[in-house]
Amino acid sequence: MRRPWLCLLLLFGACVTPSPGGLPPERVPSSSRSLPRPTPSWRFQPLSWEKLASVEAWLAGEGRWAAPEQRIEAELTLAEGRSTFALRDLSRGIGEGVSDRVAAARSGFRRVLSTPNARPGDRARATRGLAGLENLAAPTGASVTRLSRAGWKAVGANPARLTTNQGGWSRVTIHHSAEYAGLLRGKGAGETGRVLRNIQRYHMEQKGYGDIAYHFLIDPSGRVFDGRSLRWQGAHAGGSNNVRNIGICLLGDFDREAPTRAALTALAELTRGLRTQYGIAGRDVLGHGELKTTACPGRHLASWLRSYRGTGSRLAAAR
Ligand SMILES: [Zn+2]
Repeated sequence: MRRPWLCLLLLFGACVTPSPGGLPPERVPSSSRSLPRPTPSWRFQPLSWEKLASVEAWLAGEGRWAAPEQRIEAELTLAEGRSTFALRDLSRGIGEGVSDRVAAARSGFRRVLSTPNARPGDRARATRGLAGLENLAAPTGASVTRLSRAGWKAVGANPARLTTNQGGWSRVTIHHSAEYAGLLRGKGAGETGRVLRNIQRYHMEQKGYGDIAYHFLIDPSGRVFDGRSLRWQGAHAGGSNNVRNIGICLLGDFDREAPTRAALTALAELTRGLRTQYGIAGRDVLGHGELKTTACPGRHLASWLRSYRGTGSRLAAAR
C-alpha cells in the first residue's frame, strides 16, 4: 500500500513547487489552463507611490509565476515610475533618495533589455528610459568635470535667508564674475575653490544672502562647481527675475577677455543638460544684461550667447 501515499506526496510537491512561467497549479484548474491570465490589479492605476509599491510587491510575489510579458510590463512600469519621481524631485530641488531611485530604475530597464522574450516595443521603452536617466544622473555629461560643494569647501547655506524654488525651472541666466580676469587660467581646482569661498563669503556676509548667489560656477579650465542648491531660488537676477531662473556664473571678465574654449564647452554642456532635464527652451537662456542694465556677462560672452541662441540652441525639450 505504498503507492497511493507516494502519489499524494508527488501531488503535494507539485502544488508547492511553482512552475516557471506559469501560475501555481492550485490556482489554475486543468480545464482552464488555456484561459488568459488575470490582469494584475495595478495595471491601469494612475502613477502613484502606492501603485509602484504594488507593482514591486507583485513582482516579488504572485508575479513570479506570471506570463513573461506581464513581468516585463511590471519592470517597465516600475522603472518608468521611479524615473518620473526622480525627475520630479530634482525639478523641486530635492536630492535625497534620487540616486538610489535612478540606480533601481536603471537596473529595471537593463533587466528588460536582457530578457530574451522582450518585444521590440519593450526594448524601445527600456532604451528610451535609460537615455532619460543619463540626463538625470549626469546633467553635465561625462566629459565635463563637476565638483560638489564639498569639493570647494563651501560653508553651509542659511535656509532662513533662502526661498524654496517652486514649479521647476523655466530660464537660465548667464553671468560673469568680472573680478577675476586671467587670475585662474591654468590653475588647479583648489585655486578656484579659494575664489569661490571668497565670493560666497562676500554674498553671505556683505550682501546678506543665504548662500552664494549662483547655482553653478565655471572656471577657465572648464570645471563646473555646484553653487547654491537647486532646492533654492538664486540671488543673481534681481527680485522676481530669480523665480524659476537658474544662475550660472563664468569666472572672468568677459568685457576684457574672451572666455576659454574649455569654459564655453562646459557652459554649453551644462546648459544642454539643464534644458533637457527641466524642459527649458533655447530662447530662455539669457545674459544678465537682457534682464537689467548691466555689462554682465561681458561683450565676449554676450556675443557667444547670441550665436548659441541663433544656431546651437535648438534642442528638443525633454517633456
Ligand atoms: Zn550678472
